[in-house]
Amino acid sequence: MKLRVLGCHGGTTRDHKSVSFLIDRHLALDAGSLASGLSLEEMGSVQTVLVTHPHIDHIADLGTVCDSRTHLDLPSLVVAGMESTLDALRAHFFNNILWPDFTRIRGLRENVATLVCMQPLESYEFGNLRVHPVPVDHSIPSCGFIVEGANVTLAYSGDTGPTQLFWETLNRLPRVDAVITEVSFPNRMKNLATRSGHLTPRCLEDELEKLAHRETPILIYGLKPPFEVEIREELDKAGMDRTRLLEVDQSIEL
Ligand SMILES: [Zn+2]
Repeated sequence: MKLRVLGCHGGTTRDHKSVSFLIDRHLALDAGSLASGLSLEEMGSVQTVLVTHPHIDHIADLGTVCDSRTHLDLPSLVVAGMESTLDALRAHFFNNILWPDFTRIRGLRENVATLVCMQPLESYEFGNLRVHPVPVDHSIPSCGFIVEGANVTLAYSGDTGPTQLFWETLNRLPRVDAVITEVSFPNRMKNLATRSGHLTPRCLEDELEKLAHRETPILIYGLKPPFEVEIREELDKAGMDRTRLLEVDQSIEL
């Protein structure tokens, strides 16, 4: 399984890009940088976008991806998420005001996008990958995804504060090859992190105590640009050996 980091920050600047990961060229996790991180040809290879929740930094590029795909000879783009996420996309994004409703606009072959509703903890197949959504604790309903390929399991929490079911679900799996999770704020901002459903470095240490897979690498995304230096220092000081900060344009073979 090849993981490509298209964006991994909790904000956007020239040097920071919103959250989006690509697995094996065809499955995207969130769409914060799904257009700006890919060539047109690469964008055409994407078949499915799994959306953790509808916050704008996780969906922003869905609009321009759909716009471009309208004019390419491609099958419908599957946009999958929990019902609450799809309801928000319909009401607030693909609503013919903020952006055209690409679920009803026909491309060269079929409708440009198709929304697919996922039930928590159920199992779904997308190409050669099996996916399980697992609810987490964010400021709005949100889920992480467990993605299983041949002999490889990747877990992505999406945005979350302290949570339980996600870690418990991972603990029941025989192997977890990597966990992508977040740190958004420095330790001194724990109150805001808690109120907004995010983690600090110290919160992350507590979360990792809940994970029985002690050797699994922890890949961190979500740093808010104004606090990046401070959070990096705090993570360094914490000395969590298996954690690693993700970088834009990085590719990881799992
Ligand atoms: Zn969020």
